[in-house]
Amino acid sequence: MTVRTRFAPSPTGKLHLGHAYSAGVAHDFAREHGGSFLLRHEDIDGSRVREEYFAGIEEDLQWLGIRWDGEAIRQTNRRAAYDAALDQLRTMGLVYPCFCTRREIQEEWARMGAAPQGPEGPLYPGICRKLAEDEREERIDAGDAHAWRLDSMAASKATGPLDFRDLRFGRIRVEPGLLGDVVLARKDIGCAYHLAVVVDDAFQEITHVIRGEDLLTSTHVHRTLQFLLGLPEPVYLHHALVVDEDGKRLAKRHDSLAIATLRERGCSPEEVRKMANAAVH
Ligand code: GLU
Repeated sequence: MTVRTRFAPSPTGKLHLGHAYSAGVAHDFAREHGGSFLLRHEDIDGSRVREEYFAGIEEDLQWLGIRWDGEAIRQTNRRAAYDAALDQLRTMGLVYPCFCTRREIQEEWARMGAAPQGPEGPLYPGICRKLAEDEREERIDAGDAHAWRLDSMAASKATGPLDFRDLRFGRIRVEPGLLGDVVLARKDIGCAYHLAVVVDDAFQEITHVIRGEDLLTSTHVHRTLQFLLGLPEPVYLHHALVVDEDGKRLAKRHDSLAIATLRERGCSPEEVRKMANAAVH
């Protein structure tokens, strides 16, 4: 098997030390195995994407000595593939339209006494899962704005027990419904992270998905989607995260740790990669 890894940043800010580390791990892994390293811009959220960030990402990677193979792809060019995958899940009866506003969800949590909690925060309380088919159709025909959610319990029945392999953590059993009925197509943009990432990792023939451990919970959803869509199962490596001096995960607002800033201050690529490695916990 030829190893293929990728780096999949969202062009919504400047790359920082955390990105340098993640891209470096994925790149070095591919090179050590004589494989390929690919770049994918996850640019579906148009409200946060800025054109200059695409160029900034590519410039920073090149400066760091991280070269990708072939053309970088942009998710905004891949919409038809996400729509087709959603259609497939719709035909299987495993997704449902959700018309809820944020406020309606909050009101439901209040009614329930407490929101059901997931590892990433409160879970969708399932309001629209209970709608009758004719009501769904009526509202869609009337042009009511809606997202599409995965029916996580129905999905787990369809898949049966699943697991995935992580090079750091070993075999991990998929926990059905860990993140609840996640959104697979957002109301505002018509697509969403979980489905796009799974479709694109298969499209780019990624054999090893290397990314931060903050995405470990998402992999439970991704493995489920891969199985349902009949896509190959990659191996995972969820690496530890670069943290700031307070031990907190870096956010894009940490401008002082942006690669571009460090470069302007005269740091060398080697120094930046060393700084990143030293800040991993
Ligand atoms: N685009 C995601 C991010 O910037 C990463 C997606 C992934 O590696 O699966 O955090």
